[in-house]
Amino acid sequence: MPIYQDPERARELDELLRWDYPGTALAVLGSPITHSVSPNMHNAALNLMGQTQQRFLDWRYFKFDTPPEILPRALEQLHDSGFMGINLTIPHKVQAVDLVVEIDSGARLSGAVNTLHRRGNGWAGFNTDGYGLEQALRRELDVELAGATVILLGAGGAARAAAVQCLRSGIAELWIGNRDQERLAGLIELLAEAPDSERVRGFNLRQPPTALPTSAVIVNATSLGLKAEDAAPIDLGRFAPESKVYDMTYGVKNALAHQAQAHGIPYADGLSMLVWQGARSLEIWTGTSVPAQAMMDGACHAKGYAPRRA
Ligand code: NDP
Repeated sequence: MPIYQDPERARELDELLRWDYPGTALAVLGSPITHSVSPNMHNAALNLMGQTQQRFLDWRYFKFDTPPEILPRALEQLHDSGFMGINLTIPHKVQAVDLVVEIDSGARLSGAVNTLHRRGNGWAGFNTDGYGLEQALRRELDVELAGATVILLGAGGAARAAAVQCLRSGIAELWIGNRDQERLAGLIELLAEAPDSERVRGFNLRQPPTALPTSAVIVNATSLGLKAEDAAPIDLGRFAPESKVYDMTYGVKNALAHQAQAHGIPYADGLSMLVWQGARSLEIWTGTSVPAQAMMDGACHAKGYAPRRA
């Protein structure tokens, strides 16, 4: 059987030594990667695109388990094997900034890349997480970032991209709360180069200040909430019901979702952000518009969720 059968299977990098896929290949790299539904999402879109545009018939998206210490070699090997595009997930997004030959301005500002596009001499880096968040907020919670007051929880890779997107989209106020104050200071320093950076204020997530707005768009970019038993990253009891909560985590009904429900605050989980960041990556690689609904259907099917609107 050819090595490229079953694109949704998690692969080891060694398989590249025998790589014989004759079409255009894409992949996601991460560690761990088994749980990733990116191949299901992208292959659902590519299947549909292939029905009307023949050139996409042989495009396939794979996933590779890639520990961080072999990322530089993996990117070289994937380039040598002719791959057209790569997504990067935990833990590669920051390390890869130093491994690209070009970087777009948003990715440079956020200090993280999640999308690589093939160039003759290496990879060009992009970050589509911020775009994914903005689309998800608009479609699920009817939120426009322009003029909004956002309280962003977390200062890791996902928070960096979110903060840059907020500032580029003309936010009114951006409050960033984190547990580790050194990491928070590092993010605020990084944002000094972004437009309107004077609109950013940091706070200690362990002791939210009384000055924190009570009506806001609250974005959870901490990893708290991945497990049902995780505590909520902030007490929603302090916020008015016209607030909105976007939680980048998805997969379980967590404490933040329960609190939002109890306080009558609209809540959406992170699946839509995953779909829209993926849609933007696929647009970068294909140079054309892509069917986001097919990507949402592919993700829901793989996760065993009821169908959702993208
Ligand atoms: P990082 O590891 O870079 O950052 C983790 C963040 O979570 C840090 O701010 C960390 O705070 C905080 N955190 C972890 N544990 C706790 C805790 N017990 N209490 C308070 N804060 C805590 O991860 P990423 O930024 O890459 O990802 C963050 C989340 O966003 C993950 O759940 C990830 O799955 C999700 N995500 C979702 C995407 C989507 O498309 N839906 C896209 C990207 C990410 P501290 O600095 O204090 O340690």
